Amino acid sequence: MFDKIVIANRGEIALRILRACRELGVKVVAVHSEADRDLKHVRLADESVCIGPASSAESYLNIPAIISAAEVTDAEAIHPGYGFLSENADFAEKVKKSGFVFIGPNAETIRIMGDKISAKKAMIAAGVPCVPGDNTPLSDDDEANLKLAREIGYPVIIKAAGGGGGRGMRTVHTEAALTGAIAMTKAEAGSAFGNPTVYMEKFLEDPRHVEFQVIADSHGNAIHLGERDCSMQRRHQKVVEEAPAPFITEAQRKFIGERCAQACVDIGYLGAGTFEFLYEKGEFYFIEMNTRVQVEHPVTEMVTGFDIVKEQLRIASGEPLSIRQDQVKITGHAIECRLNAEDPKTFMPCPGTIEQFHMPGGPGIRCETHIYNGYKVPPYYDSMIGKLIAHGETRDSAIARMNTALSELIIDGIKTNIPLQQDIMNDAGFAAGGQNIHYLEKKLGIH
Ligand code: ADP
Repeated sequence: MFDKIVIANRGEIALRILRACRELGVKVVAVHSEADRDLKHVRLADESVCIGPASSAESYLNIPAIISAAEVTDAEAIHPGYGFLSENADFAEKVKKSGFVFIGPNAETIRIMGDKISAKKAMIAAGVPCVPGDNTPLSDDDEANLKLAREIGYPVIIKAAGGGGGRGMRTVHTEAALTGAIAMTKAEAGSAFGNPTVYMEKFLEDPRHVEFQVIADSHGNAIHLGERDCSMQRRHQKVVEEAPAPFITEAQRKFIGERCAQACVDIGYLGAGTFEFLYEKGEFYFIEMNTRVQVEHPVTEMVTGFDIVKEQLRIASGEPLSIRQDQVKITGHAIECRLNAEDPKTFMPCPGTIEQFHMPGGPGIRCETHIYNGYKVPPYYDSMIGKLIAHGETRDSAIARMNTALSELIIDGIKTNIPLQQDIMNDAGFAAGGQNIHYLEKKLGIH
């Protein structure tokens, strides 16, 4: 196991990684921006290094500064968390070239999975079901594109190969709109992602978002830890996640899960990862792979009793997977509510000082947050300030526990989305389970 690692992230995930390090006896170097000196994990870390000003571009995205921090503190590895540089292949490569271990897959894998066309190709080759469509870059030949759309059948979606964060895609319902939509998506993709390549696939109208957690070691072993349902979304951002996904059968879990694990072996995947699928009318369609730990990993940890972050560290240090597939057991149901510093009605971010914070408790409750009394939520970063997770024997008991926990939770001084989460937990449609990705926006009156 490593002696010391750098956590190249902030907020709740940095604290989560620090806790895993503590359990494994690994020393922690926190790297932080000038605005983040008071972060909880910075205060708890063995060492800390300020890597730049508040702006992420100059701090959490500043590759030379992060690598220098690893050098001056004599650390052995870098954990990227999620967001920031976690899926940046150049970063993974530079970390390795500088003599450190990147806690994640190798740069080449990140590169393949970061391009939606090459990712889909790899998945088709591994027998993972994908969204129907032509998996090649669209040409400038308007006639050929019209013919392709006719073959796929409208509506179709034009997607940027290098897209991310729910941006760089456009749905097309009619032939008349196709050519213009392709040109616009190409132009946008070029300026937003530096890669104008776009492709076309079938647009699924009312899918659910169901994703599979995988983890693979450097000895050729890979397992899946079952699936999560993340269909409660607003603007393609997940709001509530749960595991297992309602109404997914054991046979489906086994079939898709095993294909994902096999795909990991085929592509030489290393570490934790997630295969995201759209699920409609009983069928799974792969959309993308996330080559990092996800915000919602705790729901999987709660139902499997397996620590994903500790396993990431063990695998990166060269150890084999600590469990076999037949030892993975799903017990009960877990739900996660993301806690955001935002207005619950307008969704405007609401940074400021936490005047009072009270963490809920009780059986099956887990609270992942870096906030504390007097902590000042800075305006420079994502508005997520934590996550509340409830585990119960059944989905209903998990919802009941979440409701109790939300009613105990106090975050004063700033506006939060707690009222929205309470509204969702008491919604009849959510209680029924299995709603599609448009459900929350419809409920909020956005569509
Ligand atoms: P990103 O990398 O930007 O997150 P994804 O490929 O994961 O992009 O897609 C993000 C979201 O866009 C999906 O969760 C879904 O809501 C929508 N989407 C993507 N592809 C399709 C499709 N073929 N049909 C319907 N919706 C889609």
